[in-house]
Amino acid sequence: MKKLYYDHDANWDIIKDKHVAIIGYGSQGHAHALNLHDSGVKVTVGLYEGSKSWNKALSDGLAVATVRDAVAQADIVMMLLPDEKQAAVYTEHVAPYIRPGAALAFAHGFNIHYNQIIPSTDIDVFMVAPKGPGHLVRRVFTEGKGVPCLMAVYQDSTGMAQDLALAYARGIGGTRAGVLLTTFKEETETDLFGEQAVLCGGLAELVCAGFEILTEAGYQPESAYFECLHELKLIVDLMYEGGLAAMRHSISDTAEYGDYMTGKRIITEATRAEMRKILAEIQDGTFAKNWILENKANRPVFTALRRQKAAHPVETVGKELRAMMPWLKKE
Ligand code: NDP
Ligand code: MG
Ligand code: MG
Repeated sequence: MKKLYYDHDANWDIIKDKHVAIIGYGSQGHAHALNLHDSGVKVTVGLYEGSKSWNKALSDGLAVATVRDAVAQADIVMMLLPDEKQAAVYTEHVAPYIRPGAALAFAHGFNIHYNQIIPSTDIDVFMVAPKGPGHLVRRVFTEGKGVPCLMAVYQDSTGMAQDLALAYARGIGGTRAGVLLTTFKEETETDLFGEQAVLCGGLAELVCAGFEILTEAGYQPESAYFECLHELKLIVDLMYEGGLAAMRHSISDTAEYGDYMTGKRIITEATRAEMRKILAEIQDGTFAKNWILENKANRPVFTALRRQKAAHPVETVGKELRAMMPWLKKE
């Protein structure tokens, strides 16, 4: 079975006269809405009255309506508000108004996979999940390029759900880079594992540990910052462009030898065992339950940790150093 799809695989006719409601106009929302609009699809952004995003979407040249009005006229409803807010908005403003035979779409499988949204059986449910942040999904589209996407079908009531998902992915530029067929389960579990163990949790803690150990040993915090945080981007850019081999080609042989000798002393069998445990807690719903309950309790742990982490010395010294490098502007 085919797994990767490109522009020529998509049947554009299936979406070109459809009406898409993009719910939320944040990171992903603005990118999907503007890319689809530029591709010639009719787009309405769905927001709540008084939303900060309302005028932004209007001034970007898009139609804006309340969520229920946007949903009522849509053939495709794409849910692009924060994951933890989706279930309540779905129950109150989407489920009662979505048309039978319409499609409900997601950019992440969390709410479907963990039963927070239980869609009625007379609609299609699909996912198109760009593998990149929203600002990149928009920027590379305007440059004629695309961000790769994952695509999955959870419910196919019309028999056309996958064709529609693929056409949608084309509309946001995904098929320019490649669209991989997956499932809601695989996307949700690999996404959560990746961000916790590798990309965010693992990496942030590794950076802080390196910084702390160097500064505890008496080295200047500025040196520790440059070495453990700033240089990461140069390394990651090489990996992004040509894999680990390109990174190893570019660094010195001394660095490459150190890489081979030391990596396994950092990621030990004990670390791998913990990573497997983290995956098991994602698979058995423990992480999802904790995050859902944390939100129901108004985020006490999340808020406290966000405050503590922001006060870390790596942030203080980084702020000063970055102020001297104004070209590192935030996108
Ligand atoms: P954001 O946090 O950027 O979305 C915020 C938007 O949702 C704002 O426009 C906000 O309005 C609006 N919003 C908040 N509450 C409501 C509401 N009750 N009704 C209507 N609109 C509301 O979300 P992301 O783009 O980060 O995430 C959207 C989805 O995409 C998630 O499923 C996420 O997992 C997925 N995803 C995100 C990626 C990313 O790059 N961030 C990458 C891949 C997938 P206001 O301005 O008023 O606050
Ligand atoms: Mg994620
Ligand atoms: Mg070095």
